[in-house]
Amino acid sequence: MADIFISYTREDVSYAERLAAALEAAGVSVWWDRSLRNGSAYHVDIEAEIDRARRVIVLWSERSRVRHWVLDEATAAQEAGKLAPVVIDGRPPLGFRSFHGTAYEEAMADVAGFLAGMGFEAAAPPPRPEAPAAEPPPTGDLRYNMKTPLAEAMTGALRDIAVPRDRPCGACGGRGCAACKGAGAVETTSTLRIKVPAGVRTGTRIRLAGEGGFVPATGETGDLYIFIEVENGIYAVRDDLLVARLPMSAASAAAGFATTIPDLRGGTIPVEVPKGAKAGQEIRLEGKGFPALGSMPAGDILLYVEIE
Ligand SMILES: [Zn+2]
Repeated sequence: MADIFISYTREDVSYAERLAAALEAAGVSVWWDRSLRNGSAYHVDIEAEIDRARRVIVLWSERSRVRHWVLDEATAAQEAGKLAPVVIDGRPPLGFRSFHGTAYEEAMADVAGFLAGMGFEAAAPPPRPEAPAAEPPPTGDLRYNMKTPLAEAMTGALRDIAVPRDRPCGACGGRGCAACKGAGAVETTSTLRIKVPAGVRTGTRIRLAGEGGFVPATGETGDLYIFIEVENGIYAVRDDLLVARLPMSAASAAAGFATTIPDLRGGTIPVEVPKGAKAGQEIRLEGKGFPALGSMPAGDILLYVEIE
């Protein structure tokens, strides 16, 4: 277990890294999910880590405030009374503005003061016990990182994935016997059909209840969390935006014209290039990007005028 859990979005990893190093140097333990091992499943239970942590630092930025994952963690921390917001840039999202956040550079400049503000004895960290307290038994929750082609994120898809996980030993039903060398569980790679809903973004988590690993100590089976990473396609994926260049001649840009761009769900999207368009000018097509998913509204397409 860690004293402090850091919630952040991947684009802010360097901020999380610097903060974690400074906090650890000041004598507190930190949990942050730095490993994104693609295609491998491993034991991690974010909710349990938040439960165990004394405080949860949420790194707010223009990037993290639109991440479901960060919002989920911030909500859990807020409900547990453990939220410690740190603002890198921009404003915290609605619902989190009443919490007085610490500016990132301020926290970095005075780590001891920042820790004291959260109720930690920063100046004299307590000595670490020789034998750490027994960890609670694992929950069996598994994480699977899945790269999703942009077209599939737009339309939704069915994907078959191979997930290595512990299942109850068939010979002894999980009680332990010679066939499983007493473990009660055997590692089995299962092929699971995943329904990827239309509108998933990088950072979307899909939870499959009961599809995680079997834990003989508790007799329970954890959940499987699919973590989505959307890959670039004919549009570059930038957070919630789809981005592309729109090349045109100088004469067309001067006169303005109507054209179309491909809609990844099928068909085309009309685009009006205004008269006198300049190189680098942005044309935003609201709601024409990622489909809405859950509480997340449809995303935009952003085109950059390019004069050839
Ligand atoms: Zn067995």
